[in-house]
Amino acid sequence: MSTIAFLSIGMHGHVNPTLPVVAELVRRGHTVTYHTSPAFREEIEATGASVYLYPGGDQPFPDPPTPLTWMESLASTAVHLLPAVLTDLRRDPPDLIVHDSACLWGAVAARELGVPAASSFTTFALNRHVPSPTRGSLDLLTAATAQPRSVQGYLRSRWALHRRFDARGLPLLDLANIRQPLNLVYTSRAFQPAVEDFDQSYRFVGPSVGARPADPSFPTDRLRDPVLFASLGTVFNADPQLLRSLATELAPLGGTVIVSTGQTDPEALGPLPANVLARRFVPQPEVLARAALFVTHGGMNSVNEAMYTGVPLLVIPQGADQPMVARRVVELGAGLSIRTQDVARGSVNVLAQQLLRDPRFRAAARTLQVAQREAGGYRRAADELERYLHTAGSDGQSSPPVRHSEAE
Ligand code: UDP
Repeated sequence: MSTIAFLSIGMHGHVNPTLPVVAELVRRGHTVTYHTSPAFREEIEATGASVYLYPGGDQPFPDPPTPLTWMESLASTAVHLLPAVLTDLRRDPPDLIVHDSACLWGAVAARELGVPAASSFTTFALNRHVPSPTRGSLDLLTAATAQPRSVQGYLRSRWALHRRFDARGLPLLDLANIRQPLNLVYTSRAFQPAVEDFDQSYRFVGPSVGARPADPSFPTDRLRDPVLFASLGTVFNADPQLLRSLATELAPLGGTVIVSTGQTDPEALGPLPANVLARRFVPQPEVLARAALFVTHGGMNSVNEAMYTGVPLLVIPQGADQPMVARRVVELGAGLSIRTQDVARGSVNVLAQQLLRDPRFRAAARTLQVAQREAGGYRRAADELERYLHTAGSDGQSSPPVRHSEAE
């Protein structure tokens, strides 16, 4: 049996898919350590892993959440966390490190310790056809010109990282796309755009959906069909007026309308129709299992989870990779997409009716559901990690890191 260390960045969307994988590895007898921020402690402990907390409390989201501020924050976090993370890792030396594709300190730690590493992609796998948010691009250059302080901060941290740690071979810019000899992607080949471009190091294991700790405060027994669910995720600060529009436009079509308000206080939505339940956080997989329609920002996890349950989607992208996810949903016929500025014009009600009435959306969502389930999920992810451990172990050495070329 092996010791496997998971290192993550502090976002639900990046932690959630790893949880069932960790629980499965623990079930198979491996020792798993999980290095994370305090917000995730409880749910990770529930998997049976030993939790090591990053120093300094929860990591704040970069403000504003743009690719440039994210890069700056990832690089400075890496410099800040690595001494403590390395001490923790040396206490429980791992045979394998599994890090998020944006977890710079995970990749550096693997190099420092000389152990093989796998990367965990909670977005699509990324290349020139499926562009990473942090790749070198005209947009990034424009942002850099407008925010020279962020650029300085980024360069300072990268220099410190380079001086103090073994950071060779890591991407100069594209910190959301750190690859390793094994890259786990938590969607199916059917949903991944340009899938034929990705080599064997990419394993499309599908949505990793497992049991999450129950939320006894959620009134499951009060839900009436059809259940219509709206969420704009946990990262973007959703405009209360936007959430309110979703609630009031869906209310006439639903038995129960559930609105997850994320960073926004539900009170800020004002008085809502009686069949609307607005909460900051709801047990999403459980709600999706009952839902007839999901209005979503197009966060990759949310969409993967919806496709896992075969629910048609209305996607209202808010940023990051969400426009790309929205395009793919529409391309495959599993839903529709609308711009935020069009929500106020009453179109959510019309499009929701279309999605509920036209059976082709549900049929396409069901086709994707089969592909998502056949990809294997967390069990397949655990199989891939065990196979990789075996290969890397029988070589008697750690796998060489992938060389990142910024031109990709
Ligand atoms: N989530 C949840 N309850 C909520 C809102 C979100 O359980 O009320 C979970 C959801 O199941 C998903 C994650 O939080 O796993 C959100 O990730 P996603 O990539 O969709 O969006 P993000 O929040 O990162 O923008």
